Amino acid sequence: MKINYKLLGAAAMVSALPSCLPAEKKAGENTQPNIIFMMADDHAYQAISAYSNHLIETPNIDRLATEGMLFTNACVTNSICAPSRAVILTGKHSHLNGKIDNRFPFDTTQITFPQILQNAGYQTAMFGKLHFGNNPKGFDEFKILPGQGRYYNPEFISNKGTEVIEGYVTDLITDLSIDWFENRRDKSKPFLLMYLHKAPHREWEPAERHYQEYIHKSFPEPATLFDNYEGRGSAAKEAEMNLLTHMNWSGDSKLYPDVMEELGIEPTTDWDLKPLKNREEVMTAEQIASWDATYKPMNEEFKKNFPKMTEKEKMQWRYQRYMQDYLACIAAVDENVGRLLDYLDENNLRENTIIVYTSDQGFYLGEHGWFDKRFIYNESFKTPLLISWPGKIEAGSRSDEMVQNLDFAQTFLEAAGITPPEDMQGESLIPLLTGETDKWNREEVYYHYYEYPAVHMVKRHYGIVTKEFKLVHFYYDVDEWELYDRNKDTLELKNVYNDPAYAEVVKDMKAKLVDLRAKYHDSEELDQKFIDMYDEK
Ligand code: CA
Repeated sequence: MKINYKLLGAAAMVSALPSCLPAEKKAGENTQPNIIFMMADDHAYQAISAYSNHLIETPNIDRLATEGMLFTNACVTNSICAPSRAVILTGKHSHLNGKIDNRFPFDTTQITFPQILQNAGYQTAMFGKLHFGNNPKGFDEFKILPGQGRYYNPEFISNKGTEVIEGYVTDLITDLSIDWFENRRDKSKPFLLMYLHKAPHREWEPAERHYQEYIHKSFPEPATLFDNYEGRGSAAKEAEMNLLTHMNWSGDSKLYPDVMEELGIEPTTDWDLKPLKNREEVMTAEQIASWDATYKPMNEEFKKNFPKMTEKEKMQWRYQRYMQDYLACIAAVDENVGRLLDYLDENNLRENTIIVYTSDQGFYLGEHGWFDKRFIYNESFKTPLLISWPGKIEAGSRSDEMVQNLDFAQTFLEAAGITPPEDMQGESLIPLLTGETDKWNREEVYYHYYEYPAVHMVKRHYGIVTKEFKLVHFYYDVDEWELYDRNKDTLELKNVYNDPAYAEVVKDMKAKLVDLRAKYHDSEELDQKFIDMYDEK
């Protein structure tokens, strides 16, 4: 679908606020906190040193944990980019906000928390990646990437139209944010800034200063890099997320098309060759020369070694190439988070400000032999979450509670003293943030993934997760159940659904799942409705 952003932008500007917004609340002088929502795209918690430093040090992101709270059990409701963003903005599960996958555009009649904050007197701004297929409502100012956007010299859409800004996307999103603080901040109002990185989304194109460094690094392999998927059902076996067989050789691993041709390597997908073939259109001659100076020698070496490489060695090579570029993209995110935090510190903007760092979901960094996300299995189900709020959150604290991206909207509204709309489905995190943990009583979370049949071929599934167990139902073209004992099987390698020792657990979890589906208003009718939507397309 081709969208005329200029027209959409103009329409969004003149449309009136929906009448069902809560009554306007006047912004009190410095009583309502400022909110900075920092989110990366596909940033795995395994790649944040506050969680584990086996892959990379992220000293700047870690500052939010040192000064605030680290969540060890944060998760998403539907592990894929745009749906996660819709859940965050609306405080509703995908089946109610309607944004079930990356294909259908976001329904802009949905009420989002930024609209409510803006209506209550907040100054609001969004910079970076939204990926909705339309412009955001509720923002005094926004500059967003069209769709996935580009790493180099990206286009940005604002309500004035589209412009190309030369530079590296992670640096630019930070520049735009700091420029907004410097030149357009209305100091009489509290603010909401949504600072949304494109990185480290595929195809992992790092900044020059980082690819030059990271291409010489090597990283420890995960225990399940050579997973054979035994002990699980058809979904894990049939998913097309394998590093060796499903990752693009050129776009992702940075092989040049002529090198692939010479070695007889077929493109993995029909967009495999695009990034390198099309780079003249988007990168400057200088950027290309620098890229070639680093990536050409890697290609030459691979060409030399390829004929004698075993399948295992190819997998290991692909894992290292993946980590070098993925983690180099994270390095730029961490630097830029540091730059923004330094700016806030220098301008006394930390005191009454909630700062969240999270990702739109987790990501596989070679676990189960995979890249990408989508599954309810841990690496994509869980997501990083660090929050600082000086004076409210105890520095260096940690929460193991099961919190979700569903909870942000109500958290921010409660922090601002606004009663959330009744149909929001999350829980405010304020009791956890302020140490009133007895007010928190969630014991289970709900998950539902839809985008199938589609890229990566991860089957439709829904499930319930407690701290102890995970029960999953894969449906549509299969009818398979999986149960994992989360304490005994942390790598999730053994489905114990049919193990008689777990018969009682299965019964109990199934009953809880029925209740949970009812509580969140999900149903077989809705499952079918979203299947029909695909069939009609
Ligand atoms: Ca994502």
